[in-house]
Amino acid sequence: MHPSQQHFFRIIYPLRVLGLGLGGLAVGTVFWERHAGSAAWGFSLFVCYLWPHLAYLVSKYSSNRYRAEIINLVLDTFFFGALLPLMHFNLLPSVLVVTLAMMDRIASGIRGLWIVSLLGLIAGALLCGLLAGFHWAPESSMYVILACLPMLIVHTLSSSMTSHRLIRKVTRQNLELDALRRIDALTGLYGRGHWEEQAAAALRACHAHGAPACMLMLDIDHFKQINDTHGHSVGDEVIRALAQVVRRNVRATDCAGRYGGDEFTVLLPGMQLEDALQIAQRIRAQVEGLQLRDMPEVHFTCSVGVACAEHGHSDLRAWMTAADGALYEVKKAGRNGVSNAPVTAFAPLV
Ligand code: GH3
Ligand code: MG
Repeated sequence: MHPSQQHFFRIIYPLRVLGLGLGGLAVGTVFWERHAGSAAWGFSLFVCYLWPHLAYLVSKYSSNRYRAEIINLVLDTFFFGALLPLMHFNLLPSVLVVTLAMMDRIASGIRGLWIVSLLGLIAGALLCGLLAGFHWAPESSMYVILACLPMLIVHTLSSSMTSHRLIRKVTRQNLELDALRRIDALTGLYGRGHWEEQAAAALRACHAHGAPACMLMLDIDHFKQINDTHGHSVGDEVIRALAQVVRRNVRATDCAGRYGGDEFTVLLPGMQLEDALQIAQRIRAQVEGLQLRDMPEVHFTCSVGVACAEHGHSDLRAWMTAADGALYEVKKAGRNGVSNAPVTAFAPLV
C-alpha cells in the first residue's frame, strides 16, 4: 500500500466531520418543520455527529486502512440515501446531499467509487423508504434554504481550495519534470534534446542578425579502452570528471551538454573563433592533467572540434557536421588536440 493511502482516512476525517456537521443543520431543520419522530432524529444525529468519529476509528484500527475508508465512503452515501425519505424528499437538501456526495466521489479519482456510492445511496433510500414509508413533500421553506447555505458555501469553497492546491502542485511538478528532461543524469550537463534546441536558436540568431556563436564538439580519446581496462564504473567516473572540467570553463550564458556516450557539445553564443579555440585548448589541457581521486593511475585525453555558426549552415545538422569534421581531423592527426572547421566565405543567395 502506498504511504499516502495509509493516511487517506486522516484526510477524510475532518472533511466528513465538517460536511456532515453542516448537513445535520439542514436535515435538523427539515425534521423540526415536519415534527419528525424520535427514530428519525436519533438516526440523523447518529449519521451527522457520531458516524464521522466512528468511521475514523474503524479505519484507524483496520488492518487495511485504505480499503476500510473506501467502504466508509460507500456507507456515507448509504446513510445519505436513508435520510432522503426521512426528509420526505425536501427538494433543496435532498438535491444538495446527493450532488455534493457524488461530486466528492467523482473528484476523488478513485475508480468506480462514484458508481458504487450511487448504488449505496439508492439502496439506503429504498431500504429506509420501505421501513419508514415514502412521503413526498418537496417544498423547501426559507428556513430550510437558509440551513442549507452553510453546507453549500463551505463545500464549494473547500472544493475550490483543493483544486487550487492540486493545480499548483501539478504545475510545480511539471516544471520539475521539464527540468529533469533537460538534464543528463550522469553529468548534470544539459541533455541532447535541450542542447539542440539552444544551438538551433543560436543558428537562427546568426542567420537573422549575424549574431556570432561557436560550438565545441568534444570526444574522449580511446574511451572504449578505458572501459575495457578499468571497468564501466571507472568509465562513468571519467565522463563525470570531464563534465566538471567543461562546466568550470564555460560561462553561465553558454550551454554545455552531453550529446551521448563519450561525446560532449558546448554552445558558446556571442563568441568568435579565436576565443572559442582558447577555451577548447584550456579544456583539452585540463583534461590531460586530470586525476581521478580513487584511480590516480587512470589518465585520459580528449579531442575537440570547433565550428562557428555561418550563414552557409542551412540547419543545425550542417553546423554540427562542420564541428564533427574538425573533430575527425584531430582524431586522424593522433588525438589530444583541437582543430577548427575551415571558415567558408558567405555567398549570398541570388
Ligand atoms: P576514439 O578515440 O576514436 O573516440 O575511440 P573511443 O574508444 O572513444 O571510441 P568511441 O568514442 O566510439 O567509444 C565510445 C564508447 O563509450 C563506447 C561505449 O561502450 C562507451 N560508452 C557510451 N556511453 C557510456 C557511458 O555512459 N558510460 C560508460 N562507462 N561508457 C559509455
Ligand atoms: Mg571517443
